[in-house]
Parts: sequence; C-alpha cells; structure tokens
Amino acid sequence: MASSSVKVAVRVRPFNSREMNRGAKCVIQMQDKSTCIINPKQPKEAPKNFTFDYSYWSHSSEEDPSFASQRKVYQDIGEEMLLHAFEGYNVCIFAYGQTGAGKSYTMMGKQDPGQQGIIPQMCEDLFRQTADNTDPDLSFSVEVSYMEIYCERVRDLLNPKSRGALRVREHPIMGPYVEDLSKMAVTNYSDIADLMDTGNKARTVAATNMNETSSRSHAVFTILFTQRRHDNMTSLDTEKVCEGANINKSLTTLGKVISALADMHGSKKRRSDFIPYRDSVLTWLLRENLGGNSRTAMIAALSPADINYEEILSTLRYADRAKQIKCNAVINEDPNARLVRELKEEVNRLKELLLSQGLSNLITASGKYTHTHANPPNINSQETEKIIAELNETWEEKLRKTDSIRQEREALLAEMGVSVKEDGGTVGVFSPKRTPHLVNLNEDPLMSECLIYYIKDGPLVGAETYVNGKRITDGVVLKQGNRIVMGKNHVFRFNHPEQARLERERSATQEQQGEPVDWSYAQKELLEKQGIDIKQEMEKRLQDLESQYRKEKEEADQILEQQRLVRKDTV
Ligand code: ADP
Ligand code: MG
Repeated sequence: MASSSVKVAVRVRPFNSREMNRGAKCVIQMQDKSTCIINPKQPKEAPKNFTFDYSYWSHSSEEDPSFASQRKVYQDIGEEMLLHAFEGYNVCIFAYGQTGAGKSYTMMGKQDPGQQGIIPQMCEDLFRQTADNTDPDLSFSVEVSYMEIYCERVRDLLNPKSRGALRVREHPIMGPYVEDLSKMAVTNYSDIADLMDTGNKARTVAATNMNETSSRSHAVFTILFTQRRHDNMTSLDTEKVCEGANINKSLTTLGKVISALADMHGSKKRRSDFIPYRDSVLTWLLRENLGGNSRTAMIAALSPADINYEEILSTLRYADRAKQIKCNAVINEDPNARLVRELKEEVNRLKELLLSQGLSNLITASGKYTHTHANPPNINSQETEKIIAELNETWEEKLRKTDSIRQEREALLAEMGVSVKEDGGTVGVFSPKRTPHLVNLNEDPLMSECLIYYIKDGPLVGAETYVNGKRITDGVVLKQGNRIVMGKNHVFRFNHPEQARLERERSATQEQQGEPVDWSYAQKELLEKQGIDIKQEMEKRLQDLESQYRKEKEEADQILEQQRLVRKDTV
C-alpha cells in the first residue's frame, strides 16, 4: 500500500475576447510552484500566496518562456498517472473550477495540433505503449464508459438504448457503481476519439432538448485498462480519468468532501464516516478517488480576470485544502479472478441467508425498486450474478456488443436529423464542403458546433423563429454566418461553405478579427432586439426542474423507508 497525497495543480487561462474588450485586469501571478492573487479592490493589501505541486501559467502564449502548454501539463501530470496505471493502481484526474475557467480545455482540449488535452494525449500514449510491447505473454485490453451526472441523475452517453436515469448502487465488494452503464471495447485511439465525439453529441442533443445548462453537469469518462499475463489473468488496473467537476459555489458537496477530508488528515481523526460522500452522486462515485484506493491528481482551473476575484480565491482555497488529502492506493493484482471468486461466494452467502429464512421472494422485490440516488447497500444475488456474467464475457463478445451499440447510436442520430458523414458514419469533426447547413451553438464550447443539420423543406407555420435576433414570419434567404434561434433554446449558425470561402478570400488581406459568432453573440443579439434572455429563462426552467426533482426524491426516500419498515416487520 502506498500512502500518497493528492497531486494538486492550478492553471490560469488567457483572457477571452470579452474580457479583452472589457479591459479586464489579471489578478494572478505565478512563480515556479507558487501562485499569488491580488485583490483588485484592495491593491495595497498584501497578495495572498499559495504553493502547489504545479502552478501553470497559461495566460500568455508559446513565445513566453514561462508559458505552460497542453504538452507540458500532460508531461507533468498525465505521464505520471499513466505510469501508475501500468503499475496497476487506480488513477483519477479531475478538474475543478468555475464555469469558463478552463476545465474542459485542460482535460479534453481541442483537435488542433498542440491543443489536445490530458485525456486524448494519455489515450494515445496508452496505445503507443501497449503496441510497443514485445512480451508475448503480456496482453492488454481497454474499455471505456462515459456518463453524465445532471441534477443527481446519471445518464449513459454511449448507449442510446439507455434512456433516462441509471441507478447508482453500492456493492459490498465492488463499492459504488453505476448499474447497466455500458462499457465499450476499444482497440485504438481513434475508437476512443469517436466514442468521446458521439458521447459529446448525445450530451449536447439531450442538454438542448431538456434545456439544461452545462455548468451543472459533470461528465465522467472512465478507462478500464486490463493487463493479462499468459492466459491466467494476473493483474488488472482500473484507470479512471474523470472530467467535469464544475464547481461554482463553495458549498457544493465536492467542496464539502474536500474540506472534510482535509480536516480528517489534518487533525489525525481517522473517522471517515463523517465525509459527506453520499450527499451527491458525483462524490459517491468518486469515493475511492477522493481519499481512498487511488492515485489522484486535481487540476484547479482559474480565470485570470479581476471580476472573478472572489471565485478564484475560493477555488485556490479548495485546491490548497486538497493538498492535505491522503490516498491509500493499492496495486490491483489478480483482481479479476479474485473478484469472480469473491462475487460467487457472495451470491451463495446471500442465497443461503435468504433460503434459511424462507425469504427468497425478497430477492426480486428489492430488485424492482427504482431510485436514482445513491442508496445504502441493497444488492441482491441477481445483481451479483449480472456482474459475474459481465466479468466472464469474452473480448470478442465485448467487441460485438460495442459494435451493435454503435450502429444503434448512429441510426438514432441520423433519425434526429443530425447529419451523417458522406461515407455513412456520424462521428468525427467534419464539415460539409459544399452543402449549406446549420451548426448548433451552445454556451459550453465543448458542446458547441458539434452537431450539423442539413435543412429540409417544410417549416412549421407560426413556429417561433429568430434570424439575427429578429422574429421572422415569412421566408428569408439565409446568408453565411446568420444566427438562428428556434423556440428559445435551439441556437444555430448558418454555414454556406461557398460564401464562407469568398468572405475568407476577401478579408484575408485585411487582417481583422471580429468577435466570434458563438452562443453568447446570438444570445446578446436576441436580448438587445427582443429583450429575451435565454440564459435567464434556462435558469428559471432549471430551478423548476430541480424543485420538481427534489419533490420526487423525497417521495422516493419515503417509499424506501416504508419498504424498510415493512421488511423489518416480516423479518
Ligand atoms: P470550463 O470547462 O471550465 O467551463 P472551458 O475549458 O470550456 O471552461 O474554457 C472556456 C474557454 O476558454 C474555452 O473557449 C477554452 O477554449 C478557453 N480556454 C480555457 N483554457 C485555455 C487555455 N489554457 N488556453 C487557451 N484557451 C483556453
Ligand atoms: Mg467545461
């Protein structure tokens, strides 16, 4: 067992165009490992200093010798974590920070050269290293899953069949896990890239249709990396690369968990029962990664701008506390075979217990109960048998299953009018060369411009549609770059590839860069011309959804409590 502290890094991003236009001031300074923040309202006050494993200055550009590139961040953090994965440890990397601070950029990045984040670089490295392997007795397999947690509900981003929320359960041996979350078998990096891309598309479609705001969603991408020696399995490592801790206010559960863990280690109080893991699905699922069996790294993303002072300071304080969290990582040796054996023992134990009490009918009764919140152990032997069956599946079976889910996913996207690549696939970043089309715009850059729609004839008369912020009732001819809002939350930009080419040629000589035509641009325009604030409407609808969800959850908790009482009576 290796007791190790959580590796903590902070990173500050460049100003965005809006901050530039506003003439924002940078309140962050960095030197080696230390980061200091200046209160813009009290410039005479002494700056507050913090020290981390890494302080990444990404506020400038490549030419600056102190600039931290995507590559640098990967080499420091990603490479070390990958090494631990090969050693057989559980590994987790998570990003923390306010919306727009740079979490997605650091974890996922962009497709352009040199802009890829930690996850894609790590996946590429993983396959490169397994391909280099010359040991004939050693083989590897990789599976991935991708889920989103929104308003405490878990959604499978890779399997279109799994509509609605998945159950979060706790298994006495496996710990907290998501029931029925699909694991896709992958054989190279481009398989993973395709899955991430479709996952992001699915996330975007769902978020747009449900009118959700991405600042409250957490995306967790998991890579299951298995190493086998001979044909008897000797070691399996689970590498969890998690993205998406989107924390706005200090009093969220992740923040509370970090504080509680830091307190525990600070005061030598070894009582983990006070850690509020169960307060949210995210922290419950990350339980082992936050202070358990895992090598964990946290990257706190910082905005540089003075108006974010309070939030930056709060992020720095949480990052500072996270340094004190200790994890006890163990190498996962031979767990697959051991797990199957332990699980089988568990099934027999449960069966005998129930049979001896004449209560075998209870097995199914509890299995039917649906509830999305992380509940106390409520596992029956059917569940355990399902897990065993999954563990015993052959690689060929896994590949077949993965492919059939992929086909369903692509069929579903095609049915929704999301364009299918000329060669028949739906995935990959591509843009039609000639055909005019719509691209989606989203508040979250990661979800923006990932869906392409070809326009079909037959608009609905009377449908609420805005072009460049103006309500339209009759046909209009669209031009390259026009903004289109349908209803309130479906926001698009019109692309006319030929017109775009002409425009580029014309402006190439002028060297000018205007404000990007993105979601915020379309939203500002609609607000100016119509007084409609999309964001505010989203917030309002979201609050309604949340209060409805809370009510449902209370009811579900009550039902569960009643069930428990009834069961006590029968026993
Ligand atoms: P978050 O995921 O925390 O909400 P994003 O990663 O989406 O934030 O970042 C917001 C915007 O800032 C994006 O357009 C992103 O490309 C840009 N950005 C963030 N960090 C950097 C960086 N280090 N260098 C360049 N651009 C960045
Ligand atoms: Mg993000």
